[in-house]
Amino acid sequence: MKFIDFHVHLATAQHWLPAVMAFVRENNPGYFEQFADGPVPEEIVAYFASQGVTQMVMLAEYAPKCTGVVTNEVITRYCRDHKELIPFASISLELDTPYESQARYAVEELDMKGFKLLPSYQHFYPNDPSFFPFYEYVQSQGLPVMFHTGSSIFRGARIKYADPLLLDDVADAFPGLTIIMEHGGRPFWYDRAAWLISRHRNMHIGIAGIATRHLPRYFPNLERYSDRFLFGSDWPAVPIDVKGLISRVLALPYSDDTKASILHGNAERLLGK
Ligand SMILES: [Zn+2]
Repeated sequence: MKFIDFHVHLATAQHWLPAVMAFVRENNPGYFEQFADGPVPEEIVAYFASQGVTQMVMLAEYAPKCTGVVTNEVITRYCRDHKELIPFASISLELDTPYESQARYAVEELDMKGFKLLPSYQHFYPNDPSFFPFYEYVQSQGLPVMFHTGSSIFRGARIKYADPLLLDDVADAFPGLTIIMEHGGRPFWYDRAAWLISRHRNMHIGIAGIATRHLPRYFPNLERYSDRFLFGSDWPAVPIDVKGLISRVLALPYSDDTKASILHGNAERLLGK
């Protein structure tokens, strides 16, 4: 079976704050042994190939109040010569440039393939109307937008912004916009995320950072909505190998079709491949 990882970070001390790097070190000491100054693109591609993963979504991040800044330009440059690496943009709330213009630049000039926003790290309500022109543009391009939902341990995060229910307004106003709730609202809003995918056909759940064995309990409707779940590792902030995570998904009591959808089919569809 083919595997696509929808949630990979470029984690280096150059971009992320010391506390975040310390968390990664605690979770995944091997990462620092292998890539002392952060991996070059060839090394990420080789690492994921060794895990059986052929495509990885690489995430930009503008969260100076919480984790740090990985610009769209850095991610674009990183992915440029490697078709396995899929660049996802983010939006800076610190720049004066309108969000929609930032998005247009990321798509039309930098050739980025989707977006990731972190409301709790960037301190905004995702249903704030000031974001609507941005959603309108992303919808018009047929690109996905991921949101970090649920908890976070990092200082500076404001969890109130990460309630999946805030995305109900967005999904309703933009029914053609592909929305992904990363972490499925963990741990106190799983039920909200599960219900939202039943209400909105354009909503999805990214399973990165959720204990795999509990997925059937957290999302009792997973098999019914198997077209809405996406595998992601959150690498390198993950204590086990990506291969190990994949084998945990393969061990779940679901049909082979469901597992194939989670592990690559849904990602292929959302990425337009
Ligand atoms: Zn992440």
